[in-house]
Amino acid sequence: MKQAIPNEGHEAAVNHFGLRLKQNRAPAVTDPHRPSPEQIWYYAEIWVDGQLLDEPHPVCVTSVLMAFAKPRPKAWNHAWHDVFTCSCGEAACANIHEGVGVVHDERHVDWVFRRPQANNFGIDPIAHRKWCETAQWHQYRFDRHQATRELTRFLDEAWAVLKTCDATEHSRSDMLNWFDNDPRVPMRVRGTNGSMSQED
Ligand SMILES: [Zn+2]
Repeated sequence: MKQAIPNEGHEAAVNHFGLRLKQNRAPAVTDPHRPSPEQIWYYAEIWVDGQLLDEPHPVCVTSVLMAFAKPRPKAWNHAWHDVFTCSCGEAACANIHEGVGVVHDERHVDWVFRRPQANNFGIDPIAHRKWCETAQWHQYRFDRHQATRELTRFLDEAWAVLKTCDATEHSRSDMLNWFDNDPRVPMRVRGTNGSMSQED
């Protein structure tokens, strides 16, 4: 069970959110999750105030997009998101059991999370307690408008890449999924999966 998000943020300074599209031409051949090393793989990095947020896990772009979407009136204003994940797409597979706590107000989006994100001690209760005692809380406050502008710039760049043919088939289909959460598209026409349409 995930705990309450310890948000203390009202006096916090506003941080600058950056999402950068990166490419990798030679993924490790030892990783069974990755396709042929001859092709180009695209991924994202999160940068805060011009510094790389260097958790050693892939960024789930869909979770980032969902984390900045303003909740509907009367919906929960906070949730945990698996912003960092395993290369297979299951955060728990990389021992990330908590993720990033996201709290919305009218104008800001706060991210509250522990680093390292992964509980490297495994899942037994004593080991989990040890991780809770050693992992440090971090908190960032973003302006939703600034972050949304950055996300739309990022998606424009990704779209330009998708129109060329240099990404692997696997990478292209991953990237296409990002557009299900394009902040320019109204919520009611977004996506095709059941959980999204049930909210409408
Ligand atoms: Zn995995």
